[in-house]
Amino acid sequence: MSVLLVIDDSKPIRDEVKKIFAMTSFFDVILEANNGIEGFKLLINNDVDIILCDVIMPSIDGFKFLTMMKAKPEYTDLPVIMLTGEQSPEKKIEGLNRGASDYVTKPFDAGELVARVQVQLKLKRLQDELKKSNALLKKLSSTDVLTKIHNRRNLMEMLDAEFERANRYGNYLSLLMVDIDHFKNVNDTYGHQMGDEVLSGLGDILRETKRKNDMPGRYGGEEFIVILPHSDPGGSLIVAERLREHVEQKEFKDSVSDPLPLKITISIGVATFPAPNIKSAAELIKRADEALYEAKETGRNKVVVAESSCVLPT
Ligand code: GH3
Ligand code: MG
Ligand code: MG
Repeated sequence: MSVLLVIDDSKPIRDEVKKIFAMTSFFDVILEANNGIEGFKLLINNDVDIILCDVIMPSIDGFKFLTMMKAKPEYTDLPVIMLTGEQSPEKKIEGLNRGASDYVTKPFDAGELVARVQVQLKLKRLQDELKKSNALLKKLSSTDVLTKIHNRRNLMEMLDAEFERANRYGNYLSLLMVDIDHFKNVNDTYGHQMGDEVLSGLGDILRETKRKNDMPGRYGGEEFIVILPHSDPGGSLIVAERLREHVEQKEFKDSVSDPLPLKITISIGVATFPAPNIKSAAELIKRADEALYEAKETGRNKVVVAESSCVLPT
C-alpha cells in the first residue's frame, strides 16, 4: 500500500494535489494536514511513503518540520518534496540542505509534480530493496551454513563485546565449550553426510533450547561455543548439564537414506568470568577448553566447570 502525505495550510492546494494524484494509480491513501504538527502526527501513525510539504505555514513551517522529521532515524530516508512559492534559489538550497529530496514551485504544473513524485518513489523503492538485501547479507555472513547458528567470526565479535560489557559493569559472563564425543567414528561408520546431519541436528538443539540472551555458535568442525551473559558458575553448570542430557536423549536420522537412528554424546567445559586467571575473552575460551579437555580425559559425556571461577557479591 502506498501512502502520500500532503502538508499545506491552503485547502485549495491540498485539493489540487489530491485531484492530480487521483488520476494516477500511485497512491492508495492520500493523507492531508494543514500544519507541521498535524503532519507529524499523521507521519507517526501511518506508514507514509512520500511527503509533499509547503514551506510557509503558520507556527511550524516546512523547514522546521523537515528538521524535526530528519532528526528521527526512522525518517531520514523518507522523501520530502517541498512545495514552495519562493522562486529564490536560496530558499530552495536551504530546503535541500535540511534534507528535502526535491522541490516544486507553486503554481505547479501537474505533469511536473507527478514526474518528480515518481522519481522519488522509485528511488525509495530501490533504497528499501537495498536495505533488505543488506540485512540479508549481514545475516548470511554471520551464520554458519550447515548449523544455522552464529559462525566463528560472528561468535568472536559477540564474545569480545560481551567480555567488555561484563568487565565494565562487573557482571558474570560464562562460556560453554562443547565438543562431540568420538565424532570421527560417526563419519567413519556412517559417512560424512550423516556426520553433517548430526552437526546440523546439534545446531537445531542449540537454537531451539537456548534462552533469550544465550548465543550459540559453531567454533570449528564439531566444536561449539555457547556464550551465556549474566550467568554464574552454578547457573551455567545447570544449562550445560541440561544440554548434555538433551543431546544424549536425541535420536539423529539421516534425511536421505534414513538408517537406524544414531545417538551421540557431547562433553562440555564451562568457564566463568570473573576469575583471577581470566583477563580476556581469549583466556575465557582457554579456561573452558581446559575444562573440556578434562571432561574428555575423565570419561566424556560429561560437564566440567573450570575451577578458578569467583563468586560475585550479591
Ligand atoms: P573426541 O571425543 O576426543 O572429541 O573425538 P573426536 O573423534 O570427536 O575428535 P577428533 O577431533 O579426532 O575428530 C573430529 C572429527 O570431526 C574429525 C573431522 O573429520 C570431523 N569433522 C569436522 N568438521 C566436520 C564437518 O563439517 N562435517 C563432518 N561430517 N565432519 C566434520
Ligand atoms: Mg570431538
Ligand atoms: Mg574436536
